[in-house]
Formats: sequence, structure tokens, C-alpha cells
Amino acid sequence: TIAVTGATGQLGRRVVAALLAQGVPADGIVAAVRDPARAAEFAEHGVQVRQADYDRPETLATAFADVRRLLLISANDPSRRMTQHLHVVSAAVDHAVELFAYTSALHAQRNPMLIAADHRATELLIAESGLRHVVLRNGWYTENYTQNLAEVTSSGVLPGCARDGEIAAAPRADYAAAAAAVLTDPPADDTIYELGGDEPFTMAQLADEIGRQAGSQVVYQDLPVREYVATLAGQGMPEPQAMLIADSDLNVARGYLTTDSGDLRRLLGRPTTPLAEVLAAAQMVQG
Ligand code: NDP
Repeated sequence: TIAVTGATGQLGRRVVAALLAQGVPADGIVAAVRDPARAAEFAEHGVQVRQADYDRPETLATAFADVRRLLLISANDPSRRMTQHLHVVSAAVDHAVELFAYTSALHAQRNPMLIAADHRATELLIAESGLRHVVLRNGWYTENYTQNLAEVTSSGVLPGCARDGEIAAAPRADYAAAAAAVLTDPPADDTIYELGGDEPFTMAQLADEIGRQAGSQVVYQDLPVREYVATLAGQGMPEPQAMLIADSDLNVARGYLTTDSGDLRRLLGRPTTPLAEVLAAAQMVQG
């Protein structure tokens, strides 16, 4: 049995779909979710739905009962996720899970991004647990740049503080398919994958492509960090979150969000999905 935590999340849902697409029988998949009431779509496909709330270790003990391979999708609350990850690793050890996979961040062992610290600590926890493991160090989701396309095209400005740093992004569906490939056909040894898109782009190139597709000019405006944080806060983003985003941009500038490992395309067995394709699909959805 293969279990996926955070299965009702945007990545988790796609991992379950990819497992099904790769031929794993539905009853051999456990969608481990915080709230089973939100997992009806899985049950309809015959996927097992089990409650697995990171904050309630007793639910993990039941959810992982007969699980042989487990994917921990990193949790999304920075203030609590280390403890939550600890609960999941402990439950996996208790159940002698045969393969533990974890979604981390690119170059986690040396990445100075604020959000990489938890990933680094979680990787250490997993290595120390003795579990056979695979670390999926995911690069940026291309979708990080498709949330506010309407605003970017109407203003003609894409703000940031990433300078001319390159971003090896890929859509969630690519990372999900790679995770499913590892779960169905794990490598013989503990492995760390550095996962990113085949064709890294700069923010200026991103702005160009958005403009090209919209048929209007869009320029990248590189701002001093404080101004970028103020811009995000002005758009209604809480300041701590704006700081995390600005900090990530600074580390894009320093080269920590790119990779030329080729790991993602190898796991997929095909090229990664290009930026232009993801933008086009998002613009179609947003009209
Ligand atoms: P989502 O926020 O869509 O999914 C996070 C999942 O974590 C949700 O399913 C959520 O459950 C689950 N979760 C949170 N708290 C708990 C809990 N206490 N118990 C059980 N499950 C819990 O994020 P994505 O799927 O888009 O991304 C997955 C992860 O990747 C993020 O959590 C984050 O760590 C990281 N990330 C990576 C980015 C990148 O560009 N590479 C960008 C942003 C995040 P529920 O469905 O009930 O809410």
C-alpha cells in the first residue's frame, strides 16, 4: 500500500491522480488527509481515505497501519511544521514503513532561504530515523507565477527583487508525476533528487512571456527588498508572508532556485512542461 499525506492539497491531489495514471490499483492507494469529509473524490475512485492529522499522532498510528511506502508532503504552516513532520516520521518508524519519501526544497542542505530551514531539519530527521528514504527537493512551482496574471497584464509591471537570477520552475503536475514514479519504482538506495524545470527563466524573461501571450507589454521591475515587501503588503499580503517571498526572491538572485541536474526529466521520462505552456493554460482558465 502506498500512502500520500496532504492528499487534499494541490500537490497531493495530483500525486494520487498520477499514481492511478501510472497503473497503481485504487485500493492500493491511501489518501491520508486531515479532513476525510473533503476527500469524496478519492473514495469515488476506490482510493482508501484515512484521516491523518499531523497534529494528532493517534490518527497517524491508524492511518499508516499497513502502509509500505509513504510520501510526506511538507506541511504548510511554518510555525508548526517541524513538530508535525516529527510526528509523521515517528509514526513511519513505528510502523516500519519500507520507503519514506519527502517533498523538500532545492539545495536544502545549503539553501539560506528562510523556508528551507525546516526542510533541512526534516531531511536530517529522516536520515537519522534509519528509514529507507527518498528526498524530492522540489523547485518552485510555475503556478507561483500564475496566481495574479490579470493584475500583472493590466498594470504591465511584474515586481520582484530576484534581479537576474534563474528559476528552474515546473508545474505541480510534473513534481507529482515524479513523486508517483519514485513511489511505484523506488531507487535501490537512499536518494536525493534536485528537481526543477528543464529551461530556467529569469523574472525578465517571465515578464516578456506573459506580455507576449497577453499581446501587451509587461516589464520586470526589480525593486529594493524593502520596496518589494511594501508593494506586496500594499496588495493586502500579511507582512510576514511578504518577507518570506522577498527572502525567496533574494535567494533566486543568488542562484538557489535553479538546478541543471536533469533529475525531474529523468523521473518523468519526458521533458518538463515549459513555462509558456503553463502560462497559456492559466490564462485560458482565468479568461
Ligand atoms: P497546499 O497548501 O495545497 O497543501 C498542503 C497540504 O498540507 C494540504 O493538503 C493540507 O491539508 C495539509 N496539511 C496541513 N496541515 C495539516 C495537518 N495538520 N494534518 C494533515 N495535513 C495537513 O500546498 P501544495 O500542495 O501546493 O504544496 C505542498 C507543499 O509544498 C506545501 O505544504 C509547502 O510545504 C510546499 N510549497 C512549495 C512551493 C513550491 O513552489 N515548491 C510553494 C508553496 C508551498 P488540507 O487539505 O486539509 O488543508
